[in-house]
Amino acid sequence: MNPVLSETLPADTPQTSCRKCGNCCRQGGPSLHDADLGLVRTGKIPISSLIAIRKGELTENPLVRGVHPVGVELVKIVGTGREWDCCYYDVKWGCTIYEYRPLACVLLKCWDTGEILDIVEKETLSRLDILDSKHPLVPVIQEHERIFPLPDLMEIRGNRGRLSYQLEKELEKLVRGDLRFRTRVIRDFDLKLSEELFYFGRPLFQLLQPLGAFVTESSSGIILNWQAVRR
Ligand code: SF4
Ligand code: SF4
Repeated sequence: MNPVLSETLPADTPQTSCRKCGNCCRQGGPSLHDADLGLVRTGKIPISSLIAIRKGELTENPLVRGVHPVGVELVKIVGTGREWDCCYYDVKWGCTIYEYRPLACVLLKCWDTGEILDIVEKETLSRLDILDSKHPLVPVIQEHERIFPLPDLMEIRGNRGRLSYQLEKELEKLVRGDLRFRTRVIRDFDLKLSEELFYFGRPLFQLLQPLGAFVTESSSGIILNWQAVRR
């Protein structure tokens, strides 16, 4: 949206242009596409403002409506704190990187969604597209993907409240392993949390929480308790 919030139109005016309300910027940052590579490579949008959405993570899919696993890895601009607002959205000034906002923001017209829907999960950037192939964390990302592949989150969601004991224990083991891996890499590479979210995405336990996993800590590590679902 434009950097200045000023326009107010009568509610019944058919919309043909951006009203600068900021709603789209408050629904999460955009995914990056090939056309945006220069923005990251030149540091205009730094890695610390990005988060990896691993293939298989559950997101709202605007093409088919409802929650679905993403079909390709995505890299998105992060939200602010626990909110969904794009980190570049300012309540008073709007988009603080308007002159070089990503392709998805340029194409987004909430009154005519054809162009934005045309690029969903197409020609998107992944972590390895962004990083130089010689970057020391490239093999670490690949190792993390190999050792800790995402479980089938759609299946877990579908069986919420009635997972087998064996699957619950396997998930707990994966969660603990994922956290140990991250702890080691953060220490070895001196990563900040914001950088961890780009290099490795969100920890598995965070992806399981909306699916019914209640997370507690014990002396032996993270414990997952699965909440029964009200049906
Ligand atoms: S594109 Fe639509 S939702 Fe986004 S700022 Fe403009 S009017 Fe608001
Ligand atoms: S980059 Fe700018 S235009 Fe795009 S979602 Fe963020 S604040 Fe809105």
